Amino acid sequence: MTVKFVDLYAQYLNLKADIDSAIQAVIRQTAFIRGKYVEEFEQAFARQMNIAHCKGVANGTDGLYIAMKMLGIGAGHEVITSATSWIASSETITQTGARVVFADIEKDYFCLALDEIEKKITPRTKAIVAVHLYGQCAEMDKIRQICRQHNLFLIEDCAQSHFSEYKGEVAGKMGDVGVFSFYPGKNLGAYGDAGAVVTQSPELDQKMRMYASHGAIEKHHHEMEGINSRLDGLQAAILLAKLPHLKAWNSRRAKHAAHYRQALAGVPQISLPAVRPDTLHTYHVFAIRTQKRDALRSFLNENNIQTAIHYPVALPLMPAYNYLGHKPNDFPQAFAHQNQALSLPMFPELTSEQIEYVAEKIKLFFKK
Ligand SMILES: *Cc1c(COP(=O)(O)O)cnc(C)c1O
Repeated sequence: MTVKFVDLYAQYLNLKADIDSAIQAVIRQTAFIRGKYVEEFEQAFARQMNIAHCKGVANGTDGLYIAMKMLGIGAGHEVITSATSWIASSETITQTGARVVFADIEKDYFCLALDEIEKKITPRTKAIVAVHLYGQCAEMDKIRQICRQHNLFLIEDCAQSHFSEYKGEVAGKMGDVGVFSFYPGKNLGAYGDAGAVVTQSPELDQKMRMYASHGAIEKHHHEMEGINSRLDGLQAAILLAKLPHLKAWNSRRAKHAAHYRQALAGVPQISLPAVRPDTLHTYHVFAIRTQKRDALRSFLNENNIQTAIHYPVALPLMPAYNYLGHKPNDFPQAFAHQNQALSLPMFPELTSEQIEYVAEKIKLFFKK
């Protein structure tokens, strides 16, 4: 048996007729840039989230940059984000001219640790980028409280948390702005790069629309210099065809997670990912932890099971951040995570037989 880490082609085959006709329609109408599919997707995504505004952008990284830039973040400011994330969460802070300040993660849930955030706040702190890592929401009640208390903007990095929930609230709607990635492997994925920014604020929405379109809402009327960051028509049409399935796909991921938990219960050498109470986890990633991570990964690979590591080096310890002068001891939880985390195959089309096979091989590895 072979188990891929994700299988985007299997998903395509299940939706082939819809996707093919969506692509054909865009070509027939030459709706490549802007146009009806982009608008329809923005509206459909906003409606599903029950949020006032959604603007499609070229990718999630651009979304983070555009959001922070339009919140007025720039030189002289500091922005706090998680030591364990994809580099988009932090490099976009630098792009605005602000300084990146990393905070360690929680031991159990791998999102921003509250006491670590508080330690990092200075008079220059302007915002927090809260990453809902792996599909699990950060501790938003407390983070919002910290933001209110210190007058900080709250940006939600929802690249891994499409329709995740925290105490009944959907990810992306709890801060000033939510940023989504539709990179192909994300829970809602395009067939190329794509992203979106969502907000309840009409002013912020307008600014982000303008900035993403060369500083112009009306063509040739540039109120400022901006950038070119568009969700294109083909990607929007594909996302529109896939959006109605997102909730069912998330439920399937949750079912697979439950199956892994049951099949791997009682293997003392691994720890299973904890779920924060009163949240809906959407399992973009199902990461177990073990001291024997690298050996287990090789063994699974020999048995045709693909796994991944999210992420092999915590952000503050990357060469890109040498200038901050951090040591592993500054981020004990993120450092433990980088050495122990192993992401198991997780995608909606995974079968029970495949999960059993993965679990069986993991158990065999620890019995050897
Ligand atoms: C994927 C991802 C991004 C960036 O998204 P792109 O669309 O690839 O630019 C940002 N943050 C996190 C946490 C991600 O996983």
